[in-house]
Formats: sequence, structure tokens, C-alpha cells
Amino acid sequence: MRAMFRLFDTYTRKLREVQAQDGKTLRFYCCGPTVYAAAHIGNFRTFVAQDVFRRVAELSGLRTKHVRNITDVDDKTIRNSQAQGVPLAEYTAKWTQKFHDDCEELNCLPPHVEPSAVGHVAEQIEIVQRLIDSGHAYCSEDGSVYFRISSYPEYGKLAHLDAQSLDLGKTAQTRADTDEYTKDSVADFVLWKARRPEDGENYWPSPWGEGRPGWHLECSAMSHKYLGDTFDLHSGGVDLVFPHHENEIAQSRCACGGDFARHWFHVTHLLVDGAKMSKSLGNMYTLDDLARLGHQPSALRYVLAGAYYRRPLNFTLSGMKDAASALRKLSRADAALAEKAGDKTAPTYRELVKNPPGLGAFAPAWQSLLDDLNTPEALGHTFSALHALNASELSRAEAHEARLALRFIMEALGLILPPAEEGQPEAPTEVQAIAQERWQARLAKDWAHSDALRARLAELGWGMKDGRDSYQLIKL
Ligand code: AMP
Ligand code: ZN
Repeated sequence: MRAMFRLFDTYTRKLREVQAQDGKTLRFYCCGPTVYAAAHIGNFRTFVAQDVFRRVAELSGLRTKHVRNITDVDDKTIRNSQAQGVPLAEYTAKWTQKFHDDCEELNCLPPHVEPSAVGHVAEQIEIVQRLIDSGHAYCSEDGSVYFRISSYPEYGKLAHLDAQSLDLGKTAQTRADTDEYTKDSVADFVLWKARRPEDGENYWPSPWGEGRPGWHLECSAMSHKYLGDTFDLHSGGVDLVFPHHENEIAQSRCACGGDFARHWFHVTHLLVDGAKMSKSLGNMYTLDDLARLGHQPSALRYVLAGAYYRRPLNFTLSGMKDAASALRKLSRADAALAEKAGDKTAPTYRELVKNPPGLGAFAPAWQSLLDDLNTPEALGHTFSALHALNASELSRAEAHEARLALRFIMEALGLILPPAEEGQPEAPTEVQAIAQERWQARLAKDWAHSDALRARLAELGWGMKDGRDSYQLIKL
């Protein structure tokens, strides 16, 4: 029987079971990247959390259909491509490729469908037309089209806007042209933007004249095309709740009928050293920035996947070092179990989805994931389970079972374990010398000296694993 997976729903503000409406396939939509530059680690916090969500859903026995768009036309993509004198398509192709490369480095499963806004202009025009025909939208003097929010009394339910900040009567006909606006200025939002000189060659014909779609519209058009008018779950960073998702709900329900998304999954923001990331503070990191500082994508994956998605994640460079050290520990534990079990290969993610193993001591870790994706708790349980296990005391079959269970949790989190031989960095000369001296003290049965040297090694961040004829230095 399938395990029950519960997740907080922004709309109802309740923990609700993640369910496939058709009983077979969980159909969900994630707002994708705006491809005007390399995505930063904040964006990847959200994409990694969505990846963990998908993995847990699949490992819990659900099939999935994951749709994530590429925003390749908006104010920012047009502005940057114009500034560089490059055609929009060429400019966004480059950053789309970069996004794919970074996702692969971070071990994110590719979505099943990845539609682009430019590839779906006809579908967006069709939705605008439906909204005009049903009285939910109107065309302005300049050929732009706006959604009339006073025509949709449910507006504001997702963001839980109170009645005062949302006096629909008062806001009627005030308009917002930019893609984003604040709660203080709730306004009719733009569906279709009339062509302006600064758009250059980036415009399309429409029944209302030349122009381009507004940002909010694309997700409604693409989710409708690939998932239908009612689907199981919709996700994005918490900044998208308002106005983006609120607008998506309004235009989708009014144009297509149906409920739109049945469950809303929002990921809280990543902060850097306690502050919002911004170019001016110089604290905005991309994967390439971290690589230049000597950090691996596997460590970033650990940091991002290991944070509870409903709490802000405070990113620090020292946290990256801790993550690399934790991964080495996991890799060593995995290698010890594999050796005892005589396992030559590790099970793949797909094999684990197909044949989920018994979880034994790792069952509490899995339960934490099923209970609102509590990933830090899951990691805590994993380390406790490993602490209690001693590979050398297990039978071959027990070691095999334990390894499958450990791998199951690692794959649920999408962690990338360094190969065992790479799990160990080269020890500095000073450390090697102390280790050598300790080995000699041990052979001479000078236990006091041996213990003192072990303590010295620990201070330097190293441990020693004693074998019968030799020892191994281990980075703590
Ligand atoms: P964008 O490319 O700006 O459309 O954003 C892509 C995704 O990243 C969206 O789901 C955003 O909500 C999310 N996002 C943006 N900034 C952050 C942040 N600092 N922390 C977490 N998610 C973010
Ligand atoms: Zn969206």
C-alpha cells in the first residue's frame, strides 16, 4: 500500500495529503526560471525543494507528470537581450542551456514537459480572447488588455488578502503594467502588452494589435495545455504567491473553468548571511561563483535539500564546508555497508522507485519526509540510524538491507555521495606525521600516547580508522 505523503497547502493553510485526482498520476506545475541570466542559489533552493517533493512522491508510489515552464519573454529578457544586441531567442537559448547544466549538477530530475512562453503565444492569445468574451478582461486605448479583478470575487483567497487591502470596487480600473506589483496597489493586471518601441522586434500579431503576452498569462496557458483545467499541485517560491499565482488562479478559473490547482506548495526564501540576496550587497551567488570559491555542487545540494522548505534558509559558506563533511561521512558509511554486503554497484533512483526496500532503522527518516518534507529531521534520523549501526557486526544480508535503506533516503533527498575513494581528501603532511607516530605508539601498546595523538588529530579535524595491518586517515 502507498505511504501517505502530507504537505502544507498555502490555499487552505493546512497539512493535506498529496493526492493524484485520477488515482494514477500526480500532475503538477512548477513556475520555471526567467532565462535572462544564470539562476542564483535562491532560485535553486526552490527548484531543489520541488525536486525533493517529486522524488518523495515517486518513492511513495505515485507516478508523476511534472511540467515546468521556461520564461523566455518578459521585461527582463527583452531588456538584457537588447542591451547586448543579441536576438531574444539566441539570448534566452544560452541561459536556458546554462539552467539545464546547473540543474544536472544539482541532481534535479528534468521535468516531463518543459514548455516555453514564446512557443505558446497562440495559446495565450486564446485565453485572453476567452476572458474578453466572458467580460473578465478589457482592451485599453493603446491595445493592451487587462484582467478586471472586480469581476472575480474570489481574488485574494490564496494570498489571504484581507477585505480592506482588497476593496475590489475601489481598485476597479486601476491598472498595473509591470509584471510585479505589491499588495498595497492591487490592480487590474496586464494580460497582453501593446507593442512599444523598447520591445524591438519582440512582438506578435493579435486581435488587439501587435504586442506580447504579460508574464502571468504564460503559466495559465501552459498548465492548461499540458495538465488540463484542474490539476493536482502548483508550486513556486513564496514571492510568487502574490500577485503571480493569485493572477494565475483568476485568469485560469475565469477562462477555462475547473478548479485550477488543488494544492499549493510554496518554498520560503533563501537568505545569505541573514540578509536578502541582492547584487548591491554583493551576496548573490551562482553555482559558478561557488565553484570559484572551491565548493562542489554536491555540497550545495546538501545545503538546499537539507533545509525545511517552510523556514528561511540562511546560507553561509561555512555551512557549505559542513555539508561537504557530512557528505563524506555518509559516503564512508555507504562504502562500509557495501563492503560488508559485497555490493559491487549501488541501486539507481529508478530501481528504488520500482522496488522500495524495507527501511528498518531508516524508517523514521522516511516518515519525516512524508510528514511535510521535514528534510533536516530526516537527516538527523539518518545519522542516528548510522550511529547505531556497526557494519562490521552485521551479516552480509543485513548489511545489504541497511545499504538499500540508506540509499533510499539519499535518493529521496537527491544527495550526491562522493565515490568512497574521493570521499577522502589528501591529509596534510603534519596530519600524516602525527598519524604515523600514533600508529607506532599503538604497535608499542603505549595507549596513553596513542590516545593523546588521536585527540590531537581530532583537533585538526581528522580521525583514524585502525585496521589489522594498516590505518586509514579520515576527514571528520
Ligand atoms: P525567477 O527566475 O525569478 O522567475 O524565479 C525562479 C524561482 O525561484 C521562482 O519559483 C521564485 O519564486 C524562486 N526564488 C527567487 N528568489 C528566491 C530566493 N531567494 N529563495 C528561494 N526561492 C527564490
Ligand atoms: Zn508561473
